Amino acid sequence: MTLPTVWILGDQLNRTVGALADKSPADCRVLLVESHAKISSKRWHRQRLHLVLSSMAHFAAELRDEGFDVDHRQASSLETGLKAHADEFDVETVIAMEPMSWDGRAMLERLGVQTIANDQFLCHYDEFAAWVEPRKSFKMEDFYRWQRQRLDLLMDGDEPAGGAWNFDHDNREPPPKDGRSWPEITSFEHDDIDRDVLNRMSDLDVWGAEPDGTWPVTRAQAKQRLDKFIATGLAPFGPHEDAMLQEEWKLAHSTLSSSMNLGLLTPLEVAEAAEVAYREGSAPINSVEGFVRQVIGWREYVWGVYWLWMPDYRDGNQLAAQRPVPPVFLGEAETSMACVAGALRHVHDHGYAHHIQRLMVLGNLALTSGVDPWAMTEWMWASFVDGAEWVMLPNVIGMALHADGGRMATKPYASGGAYINKMSDSCKGCVFDPKKRTGEKACPFTTLYWDFLDRNAEEFAGNHRMARQLGGLRRLKDLDDVRARAREVLVALDAGKL
Ligand SMILES: Cc1cc2nc3c(=O)[nH]c(=O)nc-3n(C[C@H](O)[C@H](O)[C@H](O)COP(=O)(O)OP(=O)(O)OC[C@H]3O[C@@H](n4cnc5c(N)ncnc54)[C@H](O)[C@@H]3O)c2cc1C
Ligand code: SF4
Repeated sequence: MTLPTVWILGDQLNRTVGALADKSPADCRVLLVESHAKISSKRWHRQRLHLVLSSMAHFAAELRDEGFDVDHRQASSLETGLKAHADEFDVETVIAMEPMSWDGRAMLERLGVQTIANDQFLCHYDEFAAWVEPRKSFKMEDFYRWQRQRLDLLMDGDEPAGGAWNFDHDNREPPPKDGRSWPEITSFEHDDIDRDVLNRMSDLDVWGAEPDGTWPVTRAQAKQRLDKFIATGLAPFGPHEDAMLQEEWKLAHSTLSSSMNLGLLTPLEVAEAAEVAYREGSAPINSVEGFVRQVIGWREYVWGVYWLWMPDYRDGNQLAAQRPVPPVFLGEAETSMACVAGALRHVHDHGYAHHIQRLMVLGNLALTSGVDPWAMTEWMWASFVDGAEWVMLPNVIGMALHADGGRMATKPYASGGAYINKMSDSCKGCVFDPKKRTGEKACPFTTLYWDFLDRNAEEFAGNHRMARQLGGLRRLKDLDDVRARAREVLVALDAGKL
């Protein structure tokens, strides 16, 4: 009898989950496939591609050190890689953890791979569907409270720690003006595996700054990143989670998403580490609760709704948006919009922008200008180190672009320049004026915000949460001028001259 093979996909790099959890080197052979089809499927950010390939190679090496017989092979596709492996080792049984994507799951079913439940999340999507089932409607807040209770995280008996479920009133402050320094993160020195991956990437059509050791490629590095965040970043996290600064790319954000999404860290250990900091008194409840909400609330919720709403979800385009991704996003043009230029610089330099830059700058511009939701998803997926379909779709199609008709967020996250002016330091150095909606100096966000409402007024008419905005639109005396300026703005955006 030949040994069964455990197939590890590139975002399942954890010894303690799925099919590998209960295996020892004597029980199985391990397969990892580096697929050329995947590598050439998008114009990846250099740091993103390097992170995934290097993390896979490091994981393969760690398993070998533990005594596993590991076949880490390159192949034209995942499927051909599996077939070549099965032929070479005469394999009868292949076992894998359920993949993270709809198409991946379909492929494994087609190939006859035995699957083990995906336990890389705290709430399996079947459990999520069962939670949804009896409810007429459901929202993240209810799911989050359910998670807190059933996982007994940040709870004092039956009550939420600190006496409340939500401390947002203590958070979401504008950026501090005192010029403070922000928590440093450790950069990890490249080793031979990193250098080998870099060499192999030299002929590929990728973009963005060279990998510089910012992103953890092993569990040990990811643990180090977590420990440092808990010690230095968690306490200031809450008050500044929505603030944006031109010269500071991450502020007090954790930069842990890529590690969790690849499996290097589990969400439970991340949330528990935050709770320990609260219990020991080293981080205040508003920061700890805000952070835990992101990890066991939002992250698990988007995972659940992805599976609940797929496969139709990726085709959502409720607002019939058709515009291509602007050339400035693709690095083909510059922009005078200081906030956009700043966010794109962070993406270029690190394959990262924090949540509010993704939502209220890049997403907001795509929403109000009418960028095609799938094109935007593809761009973000390729451009961020933590990109994956399960997390991109609810965040881009749902939250940022309102292309799902309000399933994810009941009203669109559209805003003019006033929000960005309040929450960032960008406007003071910008050629545009956030208060103006017409004329050459008009802030494109402000112009496009009103034009977006105007273009979609009929669509939003039945949405009571949009009544105030539509009332404001009706009171505009200069709507014709706004429309004319919006046309100029959109032409300039398409031409890469905004
Ligand atoms: C348009 C758009 C696209 C996004 N694309 C991605 C993506 O491809 N991959 C990704 O992991 N996140 C994505 N997010 C969610 C969020 O912006 C990132 O998880 C976060 O910015 C990652 O940085 P961090 O680790 O420093 O997060 P922190 O601010 O420190 O938050 C802690 C953790 O919470 C989780 N989290 C917080 N918000 C979300 C959310 N809305 N959805 C899922 N997880 C969340 C992440 O795992 C994150 O690491 C997107 C959000 C928007 C609005
Ligand atoms: S004025 Fe408008 S374009 Fe310029 S930084 Fe402010 S919000 Fe961005």
